[in-house]
Amino acid sequence: MAATVYLGLLRASADPGHVDLTSRWPAEFVALASDDIREGLRPAAVELVLRAERGRIVGSVVDAAGEPVLGRAGLLTATKRVCAELAGEPLSGAGIVTSMVDMVRQALPRIAPRVVAACRGSGADRIPALEAVKVQLTRSRASSPDFMIQFDTSWCLLPFRSGAVLAVPSLDDMPPGHRAYVLKLQGLGPDDGAWAVARVEHLISCFLVPFHELIHLLQTGQDDSDVRSYSAEHDASRLCGVLMLQVLRPGGSPAADAGGGPPSRGWPPHLASMLVCMMMGQAPLFQHRLRLAPAVVSEADLDSAPSAEGPPAGAARSEAGAHGEAASGSADAGGAWRAYREWTASFGLRSPAAALDALGCDNSHDRSMKDLVCIEGVARGGDDAETARQLLELALVGRQGDLYSEENRGRVDAAIAADARLAVTEGALEELWGQPPAEAHALALAELAPARG
Ligand SMILES: [Zn+2]
Repeated sequence: MAATVYLGLLRASADPGHVDLTSRWPAEFVALASDDIREGLRPAAVELVLRAERGRIVGSVVDAAGEPVLGRAGLLTATKRVCAELAGEPLSGAGIVTSMVDMVRQALPRIAPRVVAACRGSGADRIPALEAVKVQLTRSRASSPDFMIQFDTSWCLLPFRSGAVLAVPSLDDMPPGHRAYVLKLQGLGPDDGAWAVARVEHLISCFLVPFHELIHLLQTGQDDSDVRSYSAEHDASRLCGVLMLQVLRPGGSPAADAGGGPPSRGWPPHLASMLVCMMMGQAPLFQHRLRLAPAVVSEADLDSAPSAEGPPAGAARSEAGAHGEAASGSADAGGAWRAYREWTASFGLRSPAAALDALGCDNSHDRSMKDLVCIEGVARGGDDAETARQLLELALVGRQGDLYSEENRGRVDAAIAADARLAVTEGALEELWGQPPAEAHALALAELAPARG
């Protein structure tokens, strides 16, 4: 999994094949996971290379002849080879999801006690809805009508009297029509080995998506009248990565769970930074999709997209230069992006649904918005325990009934006015790439890189 995420960072870079590791999360990820990355890259016959360059550490991969692997197409081929190793194995992810649900149950009283108090009803320091949730794999059927494919392949929370069921799509034995749909959402292009990548990416997402779904479970007593529940979706997406970091990195350090946090369950210490890096690697595709909607479909389109379109996504910044404003093209270019920015700046209260529909956008744009606000939320909320608590309370405590009522709007507006960082705005990702590494990881990276590049 670590090699897949590392190659994802290389593919997403504005200078594909090089990634600037001199920022916090990539620094932590590579410092902690370099052995796993090297091992994982072996089936693709490529090797991890780190070099020091003008005060930065730049990561890349080289082939057996020592030549750097550059360009998205070559890097995607290497990713397919890495993931093909697991092609024959069932990768349900249900065990991972169950474990994440357990960890949220245990950690929430520590992270946000007022949320527990607001959601628990009466009595114990537990939330009944969280206690009762069950995880279930859903298998897609080839006989499903086309309009059902988006539902068959989605995560969802089914409310039953006996407790919610968290339904996780199974990618094993998925029919061809469903596969094509998943590949399109992931931006992976045609199924020429890309399915192996989609399966591994799905497995990694099993560590992250439960946080989004469980936040929905805590939105009790809230009524979202938007046609596609964009307020509720905003909150679950905005808080997903922030909550994940609080649960997996108690105390703000990957080593902290050895000293009194929740059990590590054998997960590697690089798990949290790997999940952040996975999102950082995917973010450029989502940005392009929204800036150029509805034109950009897959990663391959990034090569032909207009160049002045935003953050460098971890390019070796010594070469990346300044970043421009939204790309132009048609009269509608940027329409989905503006709707996205209004949605995030209003903490989910200005719905992008009408703008997306007017542009002829599809589910891939809706998904891009949710995934992008999740990683931008990590950029702004970071893994600061106090910010996470504030965000969870704003979203989930004392906000009952119609989410768009004057009272509920007033509450959100006042909170954002008091602390603008609660709502993510333009530039969040650049901020994320600009965060300096923690001292220990800076030293570890310097150790890993040869003295001269
Ligand atoms: Zn949702």
